[in-house]
Parts: sequence; C-alpha cells; structure tokens
Amino acid sequence: MSCKRVPSPIALALVLAMLSLAALSGMADMAAFAQKLASDPFTADRLKMVETQIFARGIEEENVLEAMRSVPRHLFVPEKLRDQAYVDSPKRIGSGQTISQPYMVALMTALLNLEGGERILEIGTGSGYQAAVLSKMGAIVYTIEIREELGKQARETLDRLEYRNIHYRIGDGYQGWPEEAPFDAIVVTAAPPEIPERLVEQLEVGGRLVIPVGRYFQDLIVVTKRKDGVTKQRVAAVRFVPMVTDID
Ligand code: SAH
Repeated sequence: MSCKRVPSPIALALVLAMLSLAALSGMADMAAFAQKLASDPFTADRLKMVETQIFARGIEEENVLEAMRSVPRHLFVPEKLRDQAYVDSPKRIGSGQTISQPYMVALMTALLNLEGGERILEIGTGSGYQAAVLSKMGAIVYTIEIREELGKQARETLDRLEYRNIHYRIGDGYQGWPEEAPFDAIVVTAAPPEIPERLVEQLEVGGRLVIPVGRYFQDLIVVTKRKDGVTKQRVAAVRFVPMVTDID
C-alpha cells in the first residue's frame, strides 16, 4: 500500500525538533514518538482534527481525545479517499455505507462513559474505525456487521493494525449477541426506526445504549438501564444510514 503524501513542513520541523531533543536527553519514548510522526504523514492532520473538530466542540474526555489522536483514520477509508479522511464529514466506505464524521464518533464514544475494561457491543462494524477507537480505550469489543464484505474488510484492517481485543460477527444486529450478554455498553452506528428491545435486554443494569433512532429525522438517544426500567435522554439531531434487517 503506497502512501503518496509528503509530511507537511510543520510536521517535519516537529520531527526534527523531537529527534534532537531525544538525542540530547536520551529519551527513548520521545525518539519513538518522533519516529511515528515521521512514518505517518497524516499525524499532523489527525492532531488538528482532534483539536478543531472535537475538543473545540466541547468533548474534553482525555481518553476519547487520546484514542482519536492515535487511531489512523485514513487506513479505514478507501485508498483514493485517504487525503480526505480527516475532514469534518462522513465518508463513503463502499456498499452504500459510510464511516461516521469524526465528531460523531467522539460524541458517541464520550456518551458511553468508558473507563477501560468494559465489554461493549457495537452494531454496524462498517469500516472498523469506531471499533478501533473503543479498543484503543481499553474496551473488549463485540462488533456485528450485516454486510459480509464490509465486516471482512474491517476485520482485515483491524488485524493488520493489531487491535486484538475485538470479536467479530457477520449477522443481524437487531438480535444483539445473546451468548455474550449482558454488555456494559452498546453503541449502534446505523439508525433503527425504534429502540430495539432485544438490545436493551442485553444491557447490564447501569449500562448505556447510545443509538440514533428514527427514519428520515433521527435523534441520538442515550438509554440508561435501571433496576426498574430505563431512562432516555435525547442528545442531538443526527443523520445515519438505516439499520436494516435484510440486505439486497
Ligand atoms: N461504525 C462504523 C459506521 C458504519 S455505518 C464505522 O466506524 O465505520 C453503519 C453500518 O451498519 C453499515 O456498515 C451497515 O451495513 C451496518 N448495518 C446496518 N444494519 C445493520 C444490522 N441490522 N446489523 C448489523 N449491521 C448493520
């Protein structure tokens, strides 16, 4: 896989500065980071994405910001769209599906309230990017994709990048993953017309389901499971691809 981009002068200057600093102080960590900057020409774009699209819009959870600074989003979009991977919008990933806008991934992830170590069910693997962010945050991820070609490709990407704590299933997310339930949190990245009861059933008491709901007009909803029922909080108006039961 060739990468035609050249690092920006700012990134290069940063690399040089860090390499000399590392040489001076003998800090192996700093040298490793500088090497990473040099080997990934999108690093500067990614850091800027987190500052301007995510932190600037009020997402301050450091674990979310750190994960999004580190996951190479450009490797989750088709090769010809790599240059656009860090712009402020969703991108097509094939089969009529999209990788969500960076801010939406950050918002949904922040709403899950993760500390690390949680078992999370994701419906709609898509490109695998959201799964990578969750995995980077220390979660154990169970992800379901209804379109086999997308699920397979996402798995290849995630395996290649060595995200190991992810379990994959090709199938209908409306059923959830009953053998592995209950989950500490569930995130749905396609919109069903109603909140699927099956998914609420597979949530641990105290756990959260973050889900876009609606047909054309959709709301992002946080459902929190209580001992005696659920509470629902509407967060924002959103636009996701539909959650389907069948593919043609
Ligand atoms: N989380 C993804 C976003 C993918 S878009 C990412 O980070 O890239 C939503 C995905 O949900 C699509 O890939 C679509 O095929 C999938 N999907 C739609 N209905 C589904 C269902 N019933 N079960 C599982 N996946 C579904």
